[in-house]
Amino acid sequence: MAIDLVTRRDWNARAPRGDYTQLDSTKGVKVHYTGGRVDPAIVSDHDRCVALVRSIQSYHMDGNGWIDIGYSFVACPHRKVFEGRGLHHLPAANGPGLNSGHYAVLGLVGNTGLIEPPDAILHAILDAVQYVRDSGDAGREIKGHRDGYATDCPGAPLYGWVRRGAPRPGEDAEGPTTPPFPGRPLTYPPVTRGQDVRTWQAQMRERGWDLDVDGAYGPASRDVCRRFQRQQGVTDDGIVGPVTWRLAWEAPGG
Ligand SMILES: [Zn+2]
Ligand SMILES: [Zn+2]
Repeated sequence: MAIDLVTRRDWNARAPRGDYTQLDSTKGVKVHYTGGRVDPAIVSDHDRCVALVRSIQSYHMDGNGWIDIGYSFVACPHRKVFEGRGLHHLPAANGPGLNSGHYAVLGLVGNTGLIEPPDAILHAILDAVQYVRDSGDAGREIKGHRDGYATDCPGAPLYGWVRRGAPRPGEDAEGPTTPPFPGRPLTYPPVTRGQDVRTWQAQMRERGWDLDVDGAYGPASRDVCRRFQRQQGVTDDGIVGPVTWRLAWEAPGG
């Protein structure tokens, strides 16, 4: 499903008070919550989402003295994504020195009132994540505000979800569908060829690795395999055995 974007015009945003700082690319996204009370009534009334986002913008501009709302995007319980500072603009919400590393995405939950994120908020956060990957040169990381900064944000429920690899709701219970291990290790040299190689290459590409899906496991595939193994903390022998195969589908992140 494509992102359901609420443009700044749609939510009647105030104009920023100054020029944004250009943001060429990021490592990914940091997830936030409001840190205050969110009225559970927003779940059945999108107009309340709009009012809440407007009040957050005013607080950031008039209270914090920022040029605009601090977030890049805001995810609401109607699976809509509000455009905050938007693509390629430095956010302010991640903390000093941390804004250039990640886009900042707020889920409209708080520490009282609406605490547990409804599935639609999780979907909307992931819609925003996909959008910044596709159009904003964002990398694969999905982290919480508290990663690298002293804060409770994004609260226990959202942070727990981030730590589980930020799965789409509904995919949690069954887990990802890992194809069965082909029964032979994928190795080089010599080049291993086959549909199983193609399946693994396509999955690694899906995870964000730069790799041709040509069905031939050669030096480039082995190199990606080794780097992936090091990232995952398993022996970097460059061989896709049962463990490395499974991790390609089941390990969180890229
Ligand atoms: Zn935060
Ligand atoms: Zn809404």
